[in-house]
Amino acid sequence: MTEAESKSTFLNQMNDQGNQIQRFSFDNTNVRGERVMLTNAYQEIIRRKDYPAAIENLLGEFVAAVALLRDIIKIDGVLSLQAKGEGVLSTIMAECDEQQNVRGIAQWDPNAVMPNTLPLQETLAGGYLVITMTPSQGNRYQGIVELTGDTLAECLEQYFFQSEQLPSRIWLTANGSQCSGLFLQRLPNEQAKENDEDAWERLCHLAATTTTEELLTLTTEHLLHRLYHEEEVRLYEPKPMQFRCSCSRERTQEALMSIAPEELKEILLEQGVIAIDCQFCAEHYEFSEAEIAPLLGDQGFVH
Ligand SMILES: [Zn+2]
Repeated sequence: MTEAESKSTFLNQMNDQGNQIQRFSFDNTNVRGERVMLTNAYQEIIRRKDYPAAIENLLGEFVAAVALLRDIIKIDGVLSLQAKGEGVLSTIMAECDEQQNVRGIAQWDPNAVMPNTLPLQETLAGGYLVITMTPSQGNRYQGIVELTGDTLAECLEQYFFQSEQLPSRIWLTANGSQCSGLFLQRLPNEQAKENDEDAWERLCHLAATTTTEELLTLTTEHLLHRLYHEEEVRLYEPKPMQFRCSCSRERTQEALMSIAPEELKEILLEQGVIAIDCQFCAEHYEFSEAEIAPLLGDQGFVH
């Protein structure tokens, strides 16, 4: 292998490791974990709008969190995590599907003074967090979480405790280039597998010593070695993650059905076509009058 080849292999590995989610567990305990780390997939999301730095960071936390949640809940379909409120930020959301495709978006008040950090309770005044699971088959399910904590991680820990009665700890961080998340959960002691009673406390205590820098830069293997070199850690196969938007011409056309025919006609009269940009990926879709004729109601065409 030439030097150039070995360098490119190294970069490819870094790139792969930079966008993946990986499960792990600790032998002889009931504790399981997940680590997600995203670089390009996260950058693709934030480069689509001129986000202030604080929103880029919070959006990164949402993206890391939604990837963790989908893999933990193991839903075959889409999981979305959305917060709405009336503060500086009006909406922030991220979603992830079973192929580990992520996308995300935030809307904010452009006239507001943007602080360096965005404590959730304050930023989304009177807001709440909604977790929506849309399985490929079956009914959609929504869980609503009050914004009781200042960080997304605190709110999600609360969610796991309330909805599944499972003690869970989450660490999330992002810096505009990378976003990362670490998750630990103590499963019920059904198989009396846990003969190590202090395990949960000890493993959480060690995880809490992770620095933001380590969470953002270390590969999962290195991070787990740094935290748990004295524990018996079992690492599972990592799964690659990427940015991909699920929008399509068909879905966009379906979305036009929620607009009143009168309104569509008005736009056609003014602009000649119906133009819609996807908010997630900025893909531009245009529909002619003939294409959306069935949506225009009984009176049919404008001209
Ligand atoms: Zn799109």
